[in-house]
Amino acid sequence: MVNLDKRTGFLTYKRQYPEKLNVEERLKNFEEFEKPLTEEQLNIQAARCMNCGVPFCHDFGCPLANRIPDINDKVFRGLWKEALAILHSTHNFPEFTGRICPAPCEEACTLTLDDEAVSFRQIELQIVEHGWDSGYITPQACATKTGRKVAIIGSGPSGLAAAQQLARAGHLVIVFEQASKIGGLLRYGIPDYKLDKTKIDRRIQQMEKEGVKFETGVEIGVDISFNYLLKSYDAVLIATGARTARELNIPGRDLQGIHQALDYLTQQNRTNAGEKINKADRISAKDKTVVVIGGGDTGADCVGTALRQGAKSVTQIELLPQPPHRRAANNPWPEYRQILRTSTSHEEGCQRIWSHLTKEFIGESGKVKKIMTSALDWNIENRQFTELQKETIHADLVLLAIGFLSNKKCEILNNFLKVGNFSADEFLTEENQKAIFTAGDVVEGPSLVVNAIFSGRKAAKEIDEFLSY
Ligand SMILES: Cc1cc2nc3c(=O)[nH]c(=O)nc-3n(C[C@H](O)[C@H](O)[C@H](O)COP(=O)(O)OP(=O)(O)OC[C@H]3O[C@@H](n4cnc5c(N)ncnc54)[C@H](O)[C@@H]3O)c2cc1C
Ligand code: SF4
Repeated sequence: MVNLDKRTGFLTYKRQYPEKLNVEERLKNFEEFEKPLTEEQLNIQAARCMNCGVPFCHDFGCPLANRIPDINDKVFRGLWKEALAILHSTHNFPEFTGRICPAPCEEACTLTLDDEAVSFRQIELQIVEHGWDSGYITPQACATKTGRKVAIIGSGPSGLAAAQQLARAGHLVIVFEQASKIGGLLRYGIPDYKLDKTKIDRRIQQMEKEGVKFETGVEIGVDISFNYLLKSYDAVLIATGARTARELNIPGRDLQGIHQALDYLTQQNRTNAGEKINKADRISAKDKTVVVIGGGDTGADCVGTALRQGAKSVTQIELLPQPPHRRAANNPWPEYRQILRTSTSHEEGCQRIWSHLTKEFIGESGKVKKIMTSALDWNIENRQFTELQKETIHADLVLLAIGFLSNKKCEILNNFLKVGNFSADEFLTEENQKAIFTAGDVVEGPSLVVNAIFSGRKAAKEIDEFLSY
């Protein structure tokens, strides 16, 4: 360990970013491409933390209230095992957020007032990876069983966090998942180059050893009724996510070559996992002029995926104007900064068009060929725009990444959710309604993995209290 003076840490040391494989190399496959910092480099990064009296990173920034200054101090001292124990005390899966979290903790770091934040996402990632490599992460099975049974519907991060907490509290937990593999959007939405799926498998194995049972390929409401679950379990947690993609109902939407982003991303993740996809159903960007509609993170994932598939070019269109490079006055610290963000996918080669409304898809022989847009003049204060000149953009693959609505597919669950815990369904008595809980995007709306984990932990606490009466 290097000899550091933490009292002057952030004055002496600059933030260091992990090295990445160059673009040419990383576009050859779907593998992760960031290299970890060395232990010494990480000690230095942790030494930048000021151990603030009021640590905004911890209580304002992090939904999980990770004890960030304490963790930074342990890493600064090279006490990796202790750092891991503190991290795990508030967080079940730091290896997921360490890779893909937009890190609201860093946005709230006091250092961002006139410097770069402490690189806590990187620190978190390397603590947990160090823990796996060193054999510190082992199953934490509960010695005393309560004999109470909990059914969890959905194996995304909210369902998984709840399952682990409840199993560790001694309850028998069964997770029902309609897909063939566990993980929800961690598995099927987020591209492999951002989150290698073996990192999910590793946690699932730990959870199985802790007693969690997983039933895949089972859709509740179709294969097993919700009523049956209610009768057979002491509590049921609905953690089914928000997966209904927003539509763009404009002329030409029925042309071939226009797809929802999640269908496209899921297919590539399935292909990477060795699953067979029918040739006729295959959505490929190879040699195509790709246009992604929607300037958010899902859109950026489509950009990176299309480039890896060999797209001729990728353009991303966003309705809103380009955000500023610095915080605006109405977006003060420690709020999340609404600024222009350039993801690693954008760095890989993408044209970004702002302030454009998609008006129509134009095709030839039933296939999309062009997109007609209107340039917009925005009045952001009252969120009004005026349409200016029309433009056409060439496109032979269009990916719609314009957000998600609630989970409309499972009627029984929606009946329950729609009426806020009370449903007209006759099987729901006042008594058994108390045994129904919800967590994650299905109740919070489309959000982040860190929020889903928080929501799952909160639901687990409520269920544990309910079962303890
Ligand atoms: C493309 C994409 C990229 C994203 N990237 C990021 C990112 O980089 N960082 C970040 O923080 N967040 C990201 N998010 C958001 C994040 O993935 C979600 O907020 C999070 O996964 C929500 O977790 P969840 O447990 O609520 O639901 P989900 O992850 O959606 O899991 C719900 C699970 O429930 C299952 N299910 C649904 N209905 C039933 C049923 N009736 N029976 C059985 N099973 C059922 C589904 O199959 C699914 O597996 C991304 C989202 C998308 C779409
Ligand atoms: S706000 Fe930043 S500097 Fe202050 S304790 Fe948190 S990580 Fe350290």
